[in-house]
Amino acid sequence: MNNNITRADCLARDAQDPLAPLRDRFDLPPGTIYLDGNSLGARPRAALARARDVVAREWGQDLIRSWNTAGWFDLPKRLGDRLAPLIGAGTGEVVVTDTTSLNLFKALAAALQIQARGPASARRVIVTERSNFPTDIYMAEGLTRWLERGYCLRLVDSIDELPAAIDADCAVLMLTHVNYRTGYQHDMAALTRLAHQNGALVVWDLAHSAGAVPVDLRGAEADFAVGCTYKYLNAGPGAPAFIWVPQRHQAQFAHPLTGWWSHAKPFAMAHGFEACEGIGRALCGTQPVLSLSLVECGLEIFEETSMDAIRAKSLALTDLFIALVEAQCAGHPLGLVTPREHARRGSQVSFTHPHGYAVMAALIKRGVIGDYREPEIMRFGFTPLYTSFADVWDAVAILKELLDREDYDVAAERSNVT
Ligand SMILES: *Cc1c(COP(=O)(O)O)cnc(C)c1O
Repeated sequence: MNNNITRADCLARDAQDPLAPLRDRFDLPPGTIYLDGNSLGARPRAALARARDVVAREWGQDLIRSWNTAGWFDLPKRLGDRLAPLIGAGTGEVVVTDTTSLNLFKALAAALQIQARGPASARRVIVTERSNFPTDIYMAEGLTRWLERGYCLRLVDSIDELPAAIDADCAVLMLTHVNYRTGYQHDMAALTRLAHQNGALVVWDLAHSAGAVPVDLRGAEADFAVGCTYKYLNAGPGAPAFIWVPQRHQAQFAHPLTGWWSHAKPFAMAHGFEACEGIGRALCGTQPVLSLSLVECGLEIFEETSMDAIRAKSLALTDLFIALVEAQCAGHPLGLVTPREHARRGSQVSFTHPHGYAVMAALIKRGVIGDYREPEIMRFGFTPLYTSFADVWDAVAILKELLDREDYDVAAERSNVT
């Protein structure tokens, strides 16, 4: 299959690629093929000047006045509104704040409470996949253990088990839309429908979806969603995450982290908590303004294109990568983990190799930066805003050379390759 694709073919595709000019909006180090935007997105060029401006002018010169004059106080909502179109959310439905783990806690707590106060009040179970990202499972376990009163987590090993698992005890279905390890993409609309038909609410984690694949939360009639900004949205290391609460759930949305930023009158310094109206309820306390400010630099770039254009290129890049690896590295013990079916694929490709860790370490040494996930999985993320077709060709050529020459150190000490 496609044995005869040449580097010149890839360069020709780059020349035709409507997204190619956007690569220049990022500052990528020379000699690096960056295939890890699914873990930490590359730096938008604008982020450096923005960081300088926030530190030197907004903080340095304007000092505390910047809460108003630079709009610091409104940043979580303003950024949320800018992010909303990428995930099919409405205005006033998203805030950028806290971490994905914390936002998941808030969404789960709110969903459980809505169920506990409604006709499904006896339901105590959160259903998720065993293959979900660990923090999602840890946070749900932590919440159920703390609540006691019969609250618990139920793990399924395959989505085929979901119809049976979403039974009369299931309060919430919590799923990650695109699996971090395999790149498998769930059918959000179908699974949301399944949950609703069985009386459960659905919390979606979009960590590997936002900015990577088109998402239509409102179209799917989902209940809550959370996700990262530092992955495909290129907001920078540790940048605050987001949470989506649709208009229809906002009046009932309540969680235990009732900090002053979600108070109806935060500056009244009143005794007693009174929740504000709207999406502000998802806030807790003061945000890391410097980091939060940089979220804008990533989002700006998305406004120059569309998720449909990004998706088309993402599928072309991942198709090309799969075809080239299978053609050029045939004979090596590589196993494709990511679905071939477009509808079920995120924006990454994972291959197993018995020495996956060592091979990935060797690739990184050669400037091809992907990452490794247990067990044996080499993960390659494709970010259409800055990954070219020639990058894909070059990455596979280097992989082929390493594998053919067994030029990797199986005995190498393992460290954290994130
Ligand atoms: C990356 C990721 C997270 C990260 O959570 P943090 O709170 O930002 O550390 C959570 N969930 C999923 C599914 C992820 O992929």
